[in-house]
Amino acid sequence: MNIHEYQARQLLRAHGIPVPPGEVATTPAEAERIAAGFGGTVVIKAQVHAGGRGKAGGVKLAGSPAEARLKAEAILGMMIKGLTVRQVLVAPAEDIASEAYVGIIVDRASKRPVFMVSREGGVDIEEVAARNPGAIRRLAVDPRFGLLSFQAYQLATALYDDLKQQRACARILQQLYAAFVAAGASLAEINPLVTNGTGEVKALDAKMNIDDNELDRRPDIAALRDTSAEPPAETLAREAGLTFIKLDGDIGNVVNGAGLAMATMDLIKYYGGEPANFLDIGGSSNPEKVVNALRIITTDPNVKVICFNIFGGITRCDDVANGIVEATRRIHIPVPLVIRLTGTNEAEALRILAGAGLSATTSMDEVVQQAVALAKNQG
Ligand code: GDP
Ligand code: MN
Repeated sequence: MNIHEYQARQLLRAHGIPVPPGEVATTPAEAERIAAGFGGTVVIKAQVHAGGRGKAGGVKLAGSPAEARLKAEAILGMMIKGLTVRQVLVAPAEDIASEAYVGIIVDRASKRPVFMVSREGGVDIEEVAARNPGAIRRLAVDPRFGLLSFQAYQLATALYDDLKQQRACARILQQLYAAFVAAGASLAEINPLVTNGTGEVKALDAKMNIDDNELDRRPDIAALRDTSAEPPAETLAREAGLTFIKLDGDIGNVVNGAGLAMATMDLIKYYGGEPANFLDIGGSSNPEKVVNALRIITTDPNVKVICFNIFGGITRCDDVANGIVEATRRIHIPVPLVIRLTGTNEAEALRILAGAGLSATTSMDEVVQQAVALAKNQG
């Protein structure tokens, strides 16, 4: 789950990290009022689940409340990476002397949370990694002990030469780790971590991704979800109990089981196609899930064909077949369906589909090749 910058700022602040104050506005007039309250120059920042807002024109300074209104007017309603800006954060602007990057990710290779820090902040860390990988310092944390003081100092001395700033930074890194663990985050990033004209170290931006599997035991964090800022298809899927991730290709797919779904996407790629989604309808037998899956996939205008790959075990093929037939009656499906079913109640499933004028194969290779060919023909 993604959260907004203003929400991540609150979590960091609660852990003692120095973050400038700020308030959220949804209208230019509100932004003006907040700016007047702060006085002086403010920064107006788009609140969307995307980085690179600065480059996209979503972060602007304003020297007066009237200017804050104009800048907010320009940013509200703007599209950034396909997302509409509905809220802006208004905060007193800092005079920036230096910009560093500090972040924590969960790293597969070391199976640990890994800190990444760099003096080259303010730009995407991916960009630094590509251009100047030596400028990034990494440290894997043993989750039994957390970030120990000496480790925090090692990282901090890589970022700052001034002793006071090293101390301030070491403390912030330990607080960031505490915030990361407390929120059940898979990523926590401060970019930029700045020093200002008087030498203070502050977090000017905050980004956190929360591991969805941590939400059940953290209702306060789960409550931060902003469904209006998420792809509508993913919200629909979550409410229908489906695991769905939208991708950029044109072959929709409906599969039972995450492993088989991954294998299906691999095979689509192998035969030269591009999957439009990952979708796991789960192990249970429920025709309604199939109807919901088709409803969600058909909202994607890129989809040219929908491929079913069902390996019946606990999932019964006849239930899936009933779901498919039911869906064709209830919703308009503007693209061809190709179906592979095998396993539990396979013969019954084939009868049900045949009764509705649909055919199916038992071969995964065959169905994927059909899907790729159909997508190409319509391309
Ligand atoms: P991002 O582009 O989405 O990562 O948004 P950021 O919050 O990181 O802002 C982008 C850039 O805007 C920062 O790297 C800063 O250079 C600049 N910026 C943000 N806040 C301030 C501020 O308070 N004062 C000044 N002078 N620049 C700011
Ligand atoms: Mn940033």
